[in-house]
Amino acid sequence: MSRRLSLVSGEGASPPAAPEPRRGGGEGKPPLHIRTVLIVEDNPFNLKLLDDLLQAAGYTTLTATDGEQALDQAMQFMPNVILLDIGLPDMSGVDVARAIRNSDRLHKIPVIAVTAYATPEDEAVIRLAGCDEYVAKPISAPELLKLVRRHANFRLVGQEGGREGS
Ligand code: MN
Repeated sequence: MSRRLSLVSGEGASPPAAPEPRRGGGEGKPPLHIRTVLIVEDNPFNLKLLDDLLQAAGYTTLTATDGEQALDQAMQFMPNVILLDIGLPDMSGVDVARAIRNSDRLHKIPVIAVTAYATPEDEAVIRLAGCDEYVAKPISAPELLKLVRRHANFRLVGQEGGREGS
């Protein structure tokens, strides 16, 4: 597999400093309003796939390739949903999820774990860390879009309401 570098700063990815709303005309149903999804994934190929998928479905995307970047991006841009890879170079996605849940500012943001760690024990640890959903790789695009859409639009219903299980 070829490594594609500079996906974050170049190519199609939204520049983190100035995320611009983009509407895609893809097959997936667009969200009711433009919603921002933070994609946390260290594999450049997977990152590009997820980024293309979400942009085509009408989302604005932000990207991060490690845990520290993910938390920085989340604090700065308050995404509507976070897609979180668990195997990251600097810290585990499990720790990223815990940090999000322990943050006064970030704790309500829905987190969808996207991971190859697929045993029931892994899933339990990931859910205990505070992830709302768990998607095993290889992902199903329609399934993932359904989950993102559900969580991205949640806050339209109860702006100040807390997270509720869904
Ligand atoms: Mn990974």
